[in-house]
Amino acid sequence: MKILVLNAGSSSQKSSLYDINVLKNIVSPPQPLWEAMIDWTVNSNYGLLKVEAKGVKITLELPTNNRQTGIKTMLNTMIEGETKVIEELTDINVVGHRVVHGGKKYYQATFVTEEVKATIKELIPLAPNHNPSHLEGIESIEKINKEIPQVAVFDTAFYSTIPDYAKIYPIPYQYYQEGIQRYGFHGISHQYVSQRTAEILDQPLNSLKIITCHLGNGCSITAIKDGVSINTSMGFTPLEGVMMGSRSGSIDPAILTYFMRKYDYDGDKIDEILNKKSGLLGVSGISADLRTILQKIEEGNTQAKLAFDIYIHRIQEVISSFLPSLGGLDVLVFTAGVGENSAIVREKVCEKFGFLAMKLDKKKNLNLSIDTNIATDDSHVKILVIHTQEDWAIAKQCYHLINR
Ligand code: ADP
Repeated sequence: MKILVLNAGSSSQKSSLYDINVLKNIVSPPQPLWEAMIDWTVNSNYGLLKVEAKGVKITLELPTNNRQTGIKTMLNTMIEGETKVIEELTDINVVGHRVVHGGKKYYQATFVTEEVKATIKELIPLAPNHNPSHLEGIESIEKINKEIPQVAVFDTAFYSTIPDYAKIYPIPYQYYQEGIQRYGFHGISHQYVSQRTAEILDQPLNSLKIITCHLGNGCSITAIKDGVSINTSMGFTPLEGVMMGSRSGSIDPAILTYFMRKYDYDGDKIDEILNKKSGLLGVSGISADLRTILQKIEEGNTQAKLAFDIYIHRIQEVISSFLPSLGGLDVLVFTAGVGENSAIVREKVCEKFGFLAMKLDKKKNLNLSIDTNIATDDSHVKILVIHTQEDWAIAKQCYHLINR
């Protein structure tokens, strides 16, 4: 079965084509037949397309930044030139889309229908940077052939199991009734790494108390017990929770009213400050990229050091806050750009959890092989570093839905 995954973000379009015949024989995630990425941010007039297939890598400047045209060019690299892997685009059996926001309606992978499209559209105010790109991707495929089944896999779906007391905000209940609640994000990643944790440790998922830290540009932390999520740090929007590259994470909400009264800031201005000008960037005044922050710390920059210390402290706070509901901790998982690549973040985060008899093996932490346990043999808590594979997780969900 040929499964195409379209993972549309605000600034990029990532895609993978998998060929799966019998899923149950696949232990670790396979290499896709074909992978592509369009970066829409390199230039305001065009996108930069990178494709990899059959060991060949190509880079193309797309003549326009029209997204549908760009997606069409990207898909054509599957059927022509050096990266050709299939004869016709109609050889694709199913297309899976990562959809950031499924609202209250969609808690599992769902075939795309007119109704599903209408809901994704209705939810644009809650995911203004993402849901429009998902619709563009769906329409691009419809233009090739309306008969190709398409599946929406929702980033919010993993959180349907969060109990009401962790999901509902302590504000007048009428707002919950109109949809203000904790939705949670990065669910495909958190679900995937929790399942992979069980595979790596060769233990049943429902026997493990897990905390997964997805630390990338956006950062979120999720608690998983009995195989399901019971809490997560992101909330109504992906702004809540830990400090991120340029997002503040949780702050006292009265700061917003102070901004409004003192500076007469409106919603757009506050949105911009908290989403684009805060986090590592806001505190350091230097960069949202942790690599740059670490480099500046080496050079003795105290503002960068302060930003880093807050970043670590906020992660520790969220991990600690999940411990009572989990009733302990068996595994702490690090994933995504920072989680997978920054040994110093993993070391600093774990440093304060000696009281849980969690012990990080510094050598293993530095000389990392991916999808591995970096705790010492006598540590009571396993510490795993897992490469997140959202596209593969989406492909698997499509496979199961088609075969159901
Ligand atoms: P996204 O959330 O956009 O999917 P990623 O998961 O790819 O992003 O994470 C990107 C971030 O990972 C970068 O902003 C950078 O801060 C961080 N990162 C990547 N490699 C390293 C590294 N070697 N050391 C520290 N941070 C890193």
